[in-house]
Parts: sequence; C-alpha cells; structure tokens
Amino acid sequence: MTFRSTLDFLLDDWLGVESLTRRARFAEHSRETFAQVLDTCERIAREKFAPFNRLADTQEPHFDGERVHLPQATHEAALAYAESGMLAAAQDYDVGGMQLPCTIEMAGNAFFSKASVAMGGYAMLTSGNASLLMAHGTPLQKTVFAANEFAGRWFGTMCLSEPQAGSSLSDVATRATPDGADFESDPLGPRYRLKGNKMWISAGEHEITENIVHLVLAKIPGPDGKPLPGVKGISLFIVPKQLVDTEGRLTGERNDVALAGLNHKLGYRGTTNTLLNFGEGRFPVRGGAGAIGYLVGKPGEGLRCMFHMMNEARIGVGLGAVMLGYAGYEASLDYARNRPQGRPVGPGGKNAAQPQVRIVEHADVRRMLLAQKAYVEGGLALELYCARLVDEQHSGEQPAAAEAGLLLEVLTPIAKSWPSEWCLEANSLAIQVHGGYGYTRDFPVEQYWRDNRLNMIHEGTHGIQAMDLLGRKVVMDGGAGLKLLATRISETIQQAGQVPGLAEHATALARALERVGSSTKAAWATGVPEEALANATPYLQASGHMVLAWLWLDVAMAAGRGLQAGAAPGEDFHRGKLAAARYFFHFELPKIDAWLGVVASRDATCREMQDAWF
Ligand SMILES: Cc1cc2nc3c(=O)[nH]c(=O)nc-3n(C[C@H](O)[C@H](O)[C@H](O)COP(=O)(O)OP(=O)(O)OC[C@H]3O[C@@H](n4cnc5c(N)ncnc54)[C@H](O)[C@@H]3O)c2cc1C
Repeated sequence: MTFRSTLDFLLDDWLGVESLTRRARFAEHSRETFAQVLDTCERIAREKFAPFNRLADTQEPHFDGERVHLPQATHEAALAYAESGMLAAAQDYDVGGMQLPCTIEMAGNAFFSKASVAMGGYAMLTSGNASLLMAHGTPLQKTVFAANEFAGRWFGTMCLSEPQAGSSLSDVATRATPDGADFESDPLGPRYRLKGNKMWISAGEHEITENIVHLVLAKIPGPDGKPLPGVKGISLFIVPKQLVDTEGRLTGERNDVALAGLNHKLGYRGTTNTLLNFGEGRFPVRGGAGAIGYLVGKPGEGLRCMFHMMNEARIGVGLGAVMLGYAGYEASLDYARNRPQGRPVGPGGKNAAQPQVRIVEHADVRRMLLAQKAYVEGGLALELYCARLVDEQHSGEQPAAAEAGLLLEVLTPIAKSWPSEWCLEANSLAIQVHGGYGYTRDFPVEQYWRDNRLNMIHEGTHGIQAMDLLGRKVVMDGGAGLKLLATRISETIQQAGQVPGLAEHATALARALERVGSSTKAAWATGVPEEALANATPYLQASGHMVLAWLWLDVAMAAGRGLQAGAAPGEDFHRGKLAAARYFFHFELPKIDAWLGVVASRDATCREMQDAWF
C-alpha cells in the first residue's frame, strides 16, 4: 500500500475535499487539478529530494569563514520546488498563486517532508515568511519582499529566538532604534537600526538565492530609553541581507547582518542553522553599524503578527513529524518483508530444519509495524483534518467558520505535539525492526529519528505546548473549545455505536472523553495554576491519544464503507485501516488512564521535588 493511496483515501473518501471546489475561492479547481498538484509534488520529491537526503546529512553545511557551502543538490531541489509554484500555493491568483486550499497545499508538502525534510526547510520557511507579509505588510512590502519570495528569487527566515530567550520570548534583547530623523518616510516602511543576536535561525545563511529576507523580532525602546517589559514591547521587522530598492532591485549594499557561526545539529542537517549578529558593525551600512530593518505592522504588535500564521505553521511542523515517521514505517516494512530470521513456534517448539521465515511473520514485529502504522496514518489524518479546519475557517460560512476556528485553537497544540512525540516513537520502532542494522548509517532509519527529534523542541517545546493546552486552550471562553470538541467526538461515537465491529471502540472512546472532561475539571478544581499545570504534559499526552482515537474511529467508519462497497484500492487496504484502528484502541487508548491519574489528583510529585534532592 503506497503513501499516495492512503493520502488519497483520507482526502477523498474521508474528508471529501472535492466539496471545497463548490466554494467561490476554489471554483476553478477540481478533483483533477488537486490530483495534478499532488502528482507534481510527488514527482519532484522523488527526483530532486529523496535521492539526496543522505547526502544533505553527511555533507552538512560548512562555513569557511566567508561563505556557507551546501551540496549542489540542495540548491537544485530548492529551485525545483520554487519552479513548481508551491511557494505561493495558497495565495491569490493575482499575486501569482494557485489559490489552493490549505488541505491540498499541506498534502503536497507532505511528499517533500517524507523525501527530505531538511532540504525542504528553506522553501517552507520562505512560504511562511511571505504569507505573513501578505497578511501584515504594506502594499510595497508585499510587492517588493513577499512577491520575490513567492517567485523563489529570495528566500526567508523567522528570527525569534536568542541565546537567552527561547521559550520566553518576552525576554528578547534585540533593540530597534529609529534610523535618522526621516525614519518614518522610507517607502519600504518605518526604518530602524537593529542590534542584537539571534540564535538557532534556520536557513539564516546560504547562497541558494541572491538575497535572504529575515523577519526579526526586536524591541523599540520608549522615550526613557528602556523597552516595554513583556511581549507588548516586541515589534517585527524586515531585515534583508542585501538592501533593495522599491523595485526590488539589489542596491549593492550589504546589510549589517553577519553569520557568527553554524550550529552543528543532531539531525535536520541539510538546513543551515545559524547564530546571526545583527548590527555589530561587521558590515557597516550607510555610514554606520546597525542592521537596517523596516517595521511590519504597528510597534508592539510583533508577536501578534508573527503568530498570525501560527496554526498553519504548527500543523506544518506536525505534518513534518508525521512524514518522517511515515518514511521510517515504509523503510522498516520493506525490511521486515525481506529479512529472513527465526522460525515460528509450533506446538512442538521450533523446527530448526525448516527454513527461516521473514521477520514480518513474527507477531512482535507486526506489533511494531502496526504501532507505526497507527501513529503515522493517524497523525496524517490529524494534520489533514486540521488543515481542512483552516480552510473552513477561511472560506466557510458562519457558524461553521467560527466553529472551525474554535476547534483549531484546542487542536493546534495537539497537532504540533502529538506527532512530534509519537511519530518519533515510530522512528524508534523502525530502528528496532531493523535490529542491529537499524543502528548503523547504512540504513536510513537512524537519520529519520535524528531529523524528527527536533520537532518536540522547536515551534514551542513539548512542555510549553502542554501548558498552552491545559492552561489556556481548554479553559478559554468558559471551556467553549473543549465543549465543541466533545460535541464533535460524541457525534462520531453515536454513529460508530451503530456499526458492527466498531461499537466496542465507540464505548471506549466515550469513556475516554468522559475521563478527559472530568480530569480537566479536577486539575483546575483548586484554581491554582501551579497545581494544575505541574502535570500538563501527561494531560497533553492523554488528550492527544483521545483525539487520535476519535479520528481513527471516524477513519475506520470510512474504511468500513469502502470495504462494503468493494471500493478501490481494495479489500486489503481497508482491512489495514480497520486493523490499525483496532491496534490504537486496544494498545494505545488505555494508556490515558495512567496519564490522567496524575492530572486528576493534581499529583505533587514533580512540583514538590527539591533541586537539592536530585
Ligand atoms: C534545529 C533548530 C531550529 C530552530 N529554528 C529556529 C528558527 O528558525 N527561528 C527561531 O526563532 N528559532 C528557532 N529555533 C529555536 C527554538 O524555537 C527554541 O530552541 C525553542 O523555542 C526552545 O528554546 P530554548 O532552546 O532556549 O530552550 P528553553 O526555552 O531554555 O527550554 C529548555 C527546557 O525548559 C523547558 N521550559 C522552558 N521554560 C519553561 C517554563 N516556563 N515552564 C516549564 N518548562 C519550561 C522547555 O520546555 C525545555 O524543555 C530552532 C531550534 C532548533 C534546535
């Protein structure tokens, strides 16, 4: 069973994505145009990305003190992606976009994440950067910066983190001061000089494109020379590596942005990761030190602008984690089907005279493969479902659009974090299926694990996402988001309760839903955030597993319908989906009891542990 068949099944038979073409925004699309986009992405990923994934890892970016060197294959892959038009996939036709639904854009990008997540990093960041400018930039910022990024002429970055400010962005220390008396009259936007250090910046230096458009968070000091404390003082700036004029031509002036060094990472090595010094005078510009930056949006609204696209960005991270898990699943399934080892235990024990069987014959290996299948296909369903909610939010009618937005609020921390944890676990199981060979660099699975290990760390760490879910998302508006989610889950329970073979799962899900609801209340019973949030991560794990069980039940109903109808791609395909759903309900969902136990009792073990006792 190919990845494409599962993707098509989820998009067409489960989500019914074709129905979007009835909306004005997508009216020029059809099932065929959606399929063509996926075909193109699949082909470019297969030809330009997958063959070089290992190369991008072994020949990691290297800095000779002047320039950063990347394999030629990375340049060619990034440019092939740009030529496909995918950088502007969801943008309007009149800015050169394809006006595709978010669901199809994400589905197309899934091929690149599976083929080489690190080589795809440059394009994903560029698309996010330019989309942000389309939402918050001035008309000229859009035509000069965003348009050139969508065209693939320049690539972009997101510069939030600093050496001392990661999870706590209110502590960013980069400063922006007005550049001269006429700073407000620059056509590219109010012009400032930035000084500070940005750490961990992906794609922060390379020569794939002639310019790099950095989007930088910095604080503008008040009249007393001090910045406002907290996130309210943070503003957003466009800081191009090479300065440009209002026609988008390079002026020949190098901006004062210098690469201090590359970070040498566990995985994701094909994407450069940089420490950038802004405004330290390495490249004095227009007579002085200080990187020139143009304000985006209003002063103090930097974080709001940066997080405008947050749901999409986090769904993208989750999908990247899913696809790395998927790549490992495919590799380990292939290996298990070809590796002879061991013999079955018959009633009389093992018969050494018999030939060995392929390891896929062993129940324990099937357990590891089924776990991977349940994690990665379930994760894919989760991300596509969330992407479909993004489409509903942006192009649906009321109240469906508002409801989609509310559901996304609750589901986004899960969409980012669940695959980051469980599709990483899938990668670990893929190594295990390979035995000793999996622990070598002769097989791809160790790289998938290393690449995937990033996802629990960036775009809000696992712990920070957990606190966002329990501390904010499930309690906001009197718990409206969680109530709506519970309503949707209950509808599925109702339907599945009528389906022979699925009623047992429906009952289990009903119990899980009830437990998550009562544990949420119990966690907040004293109203003391410290007590509730001490066990936020087990809460995230339990909620994530409940959501995945829900989606698996819904997918199982679609698979059951396909089985009954004798639909393509055939019986084995649909039975596989039902088996994965059964695995999830029997082996995974029961885990939530342990997680919710400490949540509901506001277990104080971690909170009361003393530093000195370690
Ligand atoms: C490969 C890579 C690529 C990246 N790319 C980019 C990029 O392009 N742009 C960008 O701006 N940043 C990027 N980042 C930075 C990334 O977003 C940060 O690493 C992340 O936000 C965590 O910050 P930190 O590393 O400072 O860890 P810290 O914030 O110091 O966290 C360390 C640990 O403490 C926990 N912790 C922190 N605060 C709390 C709290 N209040 N309560 C409970 N636990 C807490 C965290 O969960 C974590 O486990 C990248 C990072 C990496 C590794």
